[in-house]
Amino acid sequence: MLPIHSNLKNKVAVVTGGGGVLCGRMAEELARQGMKVAVLNRTKEKADRVVDKIKQLGGEALAVQCDVLDKNSIILAEKQVLEAYGPCDVLINGAGGNHPDGTTTNEVFQKADLEDDAIQTFFDMTTEGFSTVFNLNFIGSLNTTQVFAKHMTGRKTSVINISSMSSVSPMTKVPAYSAAKAAINNFTQWLAVHFAEANIRVNAIAPGFFLTEQNRSLLTNKDGSATPRMEKIVNHTPMRRLGDPDDLLGTLLWLIDEEASGFVTGTCIPVDGGFMAYSGV
Ligand code: NAD
Repeated sequence: MLPIHSNLKNKVAVVTGGGGVLCGRMAEELARQGMKVAVLNRTKEKADRVVDKIKQLGGEALAVQCDVLDKNSIILAEKQVLEAYGPCDVLINGAGGNHPDGTTTNEVFQKADLEDDAIQTFFDMTTEGFSTVFNLNFIGSLNTTQVFAKHMTGRKTSVINISSMSSVSPMTKVPAYSAAKAAINNFTQWLAVHFAEANIRVNAIAPGFFLTEQNRSLLTNKDGSATPRMEKIVNHTPMRRLGDPDDLLGTLLWLIDEEASGFVTGTCIPVDGGFMAYSGV
């Protein structure tokens, strides 16, 4: 169990995608640290489940329906959080994920793929399909930061964006997701500079590979066994395992704790078992 950061107590955390696997776990830990946690999710029931668990353990949390692609929905969510808890101290932009519309079927293009209707080639991807994934993973964080950061200035607050291994070295098959996460890294640096004098620190965490709903079909077969892609990932991870959501929590607490990381802004911290450091040979 991680040590308690007493200066986080009673601070307000807002976690988008907080009904999901990784950010749900983050929300639980922030509540255990004594923070008041607003769990924002497009599907409210998923946020409810996380909030129920937090409350059962004696924590303070609020489930809020919020679609990060809909500015009005975020404005309404911010109003609810403001009324219940006051202004946000820590914003975690966690809503994200992949979708088949922003992917190619095969890793490498072969001319014969053009003859097979079952194969989605690079040429078959539509602007709409690509945008759906790009917008969720990038514009969603932009929208949410625009709405919440207005009440975060001048108070030593912090924004955490959720990046990916794919931001630096793009994963095969997922061009839209990779482009969006690369944009997240760049935006993290831009925003860190822009808000430095406003006392908002902006950092990102780049998780390695964790088995969650967004990648389950890419990493496991219907019977639960590993796909060749999962085997490839583990073979490329020097620590020889997938991540556990708990692996992210120490980095998260360090980055949001002003006493621990008060001079850290504009960074993207990989939590990946060494994946990014390994060249493959
Ligand atoms: P997840 O699917 O469990 O969680 C994502 C959550 O976001 C879900 O609860 C979903 O309902 C919510 N969501 C989707 N669209 C939304 C919208 N428009 N508005 C609000 N909420 C929305 O996935 P996860 O793996 O826990 O992912 C969390 C973050 O971590 C994502 O940004 C993801 O890209 C990133 N990430 C995951 C991995 C991994 O291996 N799982 C690796 C690197 C980065």
